[in-house]
Amino acid sequence: MAQTYDSIVIGGGHNGLVCAAYLAKAGKKVLVLERRHVLGGAAVSEEIFPGFTFSSCSYVVSLLRPHIIRDLELSKHGLHILPLESTFNPLLDGRYLLRGMDGAKTRENVAQFSRRDAETLSRFSQAMGELSRMVKPIIDAPAPEPTSFNPKELMSLLRLGKLFRDGGEDFVSAQVKMMTMSAVDFLSEWFEAEPLIAAMSASGIIGTFLGVKSPGTAYVLLHHYMGEIDGSFRAWGLPRGGTGEISNSIARSARALGAEIRTEASVERVLLKGGQATGVVLEGGEEIMAKSVVSCCDPVRTFMGFVGEKNLEDEFVRDIKRFKMRGSSGKVNLALDRLPNFTCLPGEGEHLQGDITIAPSFDYLERAYDDAKYGNFSQRPFMNIVLPSVTDPTVAPPGKHVMSVFVQYAPYQLKEGPEHWPEKREAFGDAVCNTIEEFCPGFKDSILHRHVLTPWDLEKEYGLTEGNIFHGELSVEQLAFFRPAPGFSRYRTPIKDLWLCGSGAHPGGGVMGAPGHLCADTMLKARAV
Ligand SMILES: Cc1cc2nc3c(=O)[nH]c(=O)nc-3n(C[C@H](O)[C@H](O)[C@H](O)COP(=O)(O)OP(=O)(O)OC[C@H]3O[C@@H](n4cnc5c(N)ncnc54)[C@H](O)[C@@H]3O)c2cc1C
Repeated sequence: MAQTYDSIVIGGGHNGLVCAAYLAKAGKKVLVLERRHVLGGAAVSEEIFPGFTFSSCSYVVSLLRPHIIRDLELSKHGLHILPLESTFNPLLDGRYLLRGMDGAKTRENVAQFSRRDAETLSRFSQAMGELSRMVKPIIDAPAPEPTSFNPKELMSLLRLGKLFRDGGEDFVSAQVKMMTMSAVDFLSEWFEAEPLIAAMSASGIIGTFLGVKSPGTAYVLLHHYMGEIDGSFRAWGLPRGGTGEISNSIARSARALGAEIRTEASVERVLLKGGQATGVVLEGGEEIMAKSVVSCCDPVRTFMGFVGEKNLEDEFVRDIKRFKMRGSSGKVNLALDRLPNFTCLPGEGEHLQGDITIAPSFDYLERAYDDAKYGNFSQRPFMNIVLPSVTDPTVAPPGKHVMSVFVQYAPYQLKEGPEHWPEKREAFGDAVCNTIEEFCPGFKDSILHRHVLTPWDLEKEYGLTEGNIFHGELSVEQLAFFRPAPGFSRYRTPIKDLWLCGSGAHPGGGVMGAPGHLCADTMLKARAV
């Protein structure tokens, strides 16, 4: 028999769980329905090989909003974030860049490439910290609606204007530059050493089908600078037990607040009556009724899948079809017999305790992008590597290690068509391992198990349309009041009582929880649930 809830949340991704927790906290009767056997979506921990726990997709945390950690008492529910100590950029000419906790050592290392850059580094960090602090209110509030004459909206626009006025000329100019410039051009205004600029610019292409020299990539750079851990700005960390522990702690909190959560419950479609959402139908035919339905899935899956084109206005359908998904990333998860040994810095040390970026030069990164432009995966890709077991021994058996390799580019649209990814999966994995081997001879012999995720797998297994890691690119024309479509950036959708709380809503992707929280808050303030 159909049961009635105040709200059904489709998808137990971390944003869906955050949304459910806040609704439950307000006394609402909430049900979360997750398709997979495990919660978390792209923020998940899985024991893929016995004894080895992987953060299968998302692997480092920084953006998770501190007020969510506090409000939902995530520490009490088991969340513990361990800091990442360093950023290591090995080069093939025997040199390396190592930026760690010790400022003097970092300056000394960078000075080998450029004395000027070594001096500029702390000024740059300070400037980015300031910039992030100033734009932070934008990610902690619903997107402004510039076409509205509602007095409340006008006030929020005025507040935004004040932010720019108070920031002064430098802030406005930095903002405009970040929105329009390429990561390389932006960084080249500060630094001169190519290895440093190349390594730093790589944050600008994450999740984006653009190159480090493509205009607009400077914004993605900023997105990666906005995080904080324990009040420390721009810090990145590893949740103990893997990224899934973020989702699991939110789920524990949501359950403690009264939310019901079901796994292996795949939603087929949203039930509509007179243009209004009234519940969902599961695969298998079970119908569940609710006063409101919230989707944590991406906009394409939500509208083209659960709602259906025929139930939407043509203009909205056009906007959603135009929304750029075009996944460009893959992931390779490795179980290792021993730690990698880098030629440029042999042995163990601080350099294995942080993130390792394979981005030695502009040409290297541009060539990696060239492959993708013509529908191939990069033969020598950009990689961001983390060895979580060095910091968190709970994720691997004693003496063994897990290695997480985030890889670009792996374009969803292969030139032969995306359906050819399964037959290319292992060749893609080989390209990744062969490239690491160039930096760490003997590395391939240390691999015990290999798990390769292509954008096709991200779509099929994790439900990310076209494998886009952020539910849609974080490009300027897809942010704020454009996300996911003009007029629908406030978690409302054209279907009454259907809401969007995932990364395809403002302020976008990453393990932030912000869209989930802001969606719940908007619903509660509007008394829509
Ligand atoms: C490879 C990779 C690496 C990343 N690295 C990082 C990183 O290091 N740091 C970072 O901050 N961010 C990272 N991200 C981005 C970040 O993980 C995502 O933006 C974020 O986790 C998305 O969360 P969400 O809750 O919005 O959506 P999702 O996690 O996508 O949740 C949607 C949920 O809906 C479920 N679902 C789908 N279809 C149905 C259905 N029919 N019925 C019921 N449920 C359904 C899915 O299984 C999923 O659980 C990465 C992402 C990927 C893929």
